[in-house]
Amino acid sequence: MNANVRLRFATIRMRNAQKISQVNMQTQLTTKQLCELDKRHLWHPFTPMKLWLESDPLVITDASGMHLIDSDGKRYLDGVSSLWCNVHGHRVPELDRAITDQLQRVAHTTMLGLASEPAILLADRLMKIVPQNLKKVFYSDSGATATEIAFKLAAQYWFNIGRPEKCEFVGFTEAYHGDTIGAMSVGRTDAFHRPYFPLLFKVHFAPTPFAYRFQPTCNGENDVCRTTSCAPDSPIKTQCLTCLEQILQTHHSTLAAVCIEPIVQGAAGMIVHPPGFLRGVRDLCDKYEVLMICDEVATGFGRTGKMFAVEHEDVRPDLMCVAKGITGGYLPLAATFATQAIFDAFLGDPWEGKTFFHGHTYTGNPLACAVAIASLDLFESNQVLDRVREKEKIMTEYLPRFLDLAHVGDVRFKGCMFGIELVRDKESRARFDPKSRIGHKLCLDMRSQGVLLRNLGDVIVLMPPPAMNVEDFRTIVTVVVETVGRMS
Ligand code: PLP
Repeated sequence: MNANVRLRFATIRMRNAQKISQVNMQTQLTTKQLCELDKRHLWHPFTPMKLWLESDPLVITDASGMHLIDSDGKRYLDGVSSLWCNVHGHRVPELDRAITDQLQRVAHTTMLGLASEPAILLADRLMKIVPQNLKKVFYSDSGATATEIAFKLAAQYWFNIGRPEKCEFVGFTEAYHGDTIGAMSVGRTDAFHRPYFPLLFKVHFAPTPFAYRFQPTCNGENDVCRTTSCAPDSPIKTQCLTCLEQILQTHHSTLAAVCIEPIVQGAAGMIVHPPGFLRGVRDLCDKYEVLMICDEVATGFGRTGKMFAVEHEDVRPDLMCVAKGITGGYLPLAATFATQAIFDAFLGDPWEGKTFFHGHTYTGNPLACAVAIASLDLFESNQVLDRVREKEKIMTEYLPRFLDLAHVGDVRFKGCMFGIELVRDKESRARFDPKSRIGHKLCLDMRSQGVLLRNLGDVIVLMPPPAMNVEDFRTIVTVVVETVGRMS
């Protein structure tokens, strides 16, 4: 650890000590009492609860800037943006103020049959930054609802224009689009979704161009493609596009849409697609008259160094989904954008049955829309996208150090989305025994050093808030490289 980093940790420890009495005063309960209540009442998402009940949970009670603060006053750098959503840090005065100002007016009204000022103003702002072919925005409240809405819009679009047979979807292997039934159908992950497979609808899976672990899988017939008919010696991008084309060629008459996480497949372990792949998918969708859905839930709002990942290849999707970072990570809000042509297909008299009968109680919540507008202001005034590129440069600088480590197999990144894949054996790329929970253990180790990260299996994910400063990011990367370096 260099002198600068040591000094930073000393300062953090001092601030922690000063904070303890204040935090306990605020919560009124001791950490032990909070933990007991948590274990008695709560069921945590994506959490093996048996192990949780045997552990001492970390209770977050406060935050300040890029730090989260626990019930004992200890500070942690938020290295995963509070699950990939925080953009500008915590307790940002401009964002706090946007919410309190809106609270003076109205906290919530419905968008079913009523219009709402913050929802209108936000839509006007969003339309200026999304790809220019997207003309309408449909709000909801999470990534899964945004993708679910896109699937329904795609299916009903074809239904409304008299082609109801076009109701199937193409997804990519290992994609993730959320945990509702439609989202699980199109973004099926064995580890997460196996018990629900019988409930899911038919999807054709095209192979993901995952360079580090590529196994060409495509026969264009099975629901999940398994064998290859792609030339094994062609580059991965071409192979994957060829497989996709086979599926489209065979099934285009029954296909509604292809859904893709553009450029970076986050939950699959930060898989970065080869340049030109997204453009190739767009071209194939056009060729075979199939809609293209881009799921920007993880990549949107600056994460890849552009406001939206589709901008890297100048791709214009027919439907685009955003959530997570739209409010700067403050409140639940999501949006599904559609082209004018899709919107027009839903126009008609009520008795024609063309209406999109979908909605959620908190759709377009005014507090969430107000903070989303303030977040967009900060993107401009704080040059957030430049800060993302700074972090990308820092990781490039650290890359040789990571790749030198005995158990680092691959380092993948784009913008401020980073994945460090750990392997038992570098040569063979053999994985660790899942029971060793090596990624999880390393994250616990780093947590004790004041850095909060979350692993995806053996991939250590770094997803700092796009606005994080260079010093804080260097602290995180230093902790990661040193902790992984200590693995025997
Ligand atoms: N789509 C993508 C690409 C995601 O990464 C996620 C969540 O990580 C989702 C959808 C689901 O979002 P949510 O958890 O808000 O439902």
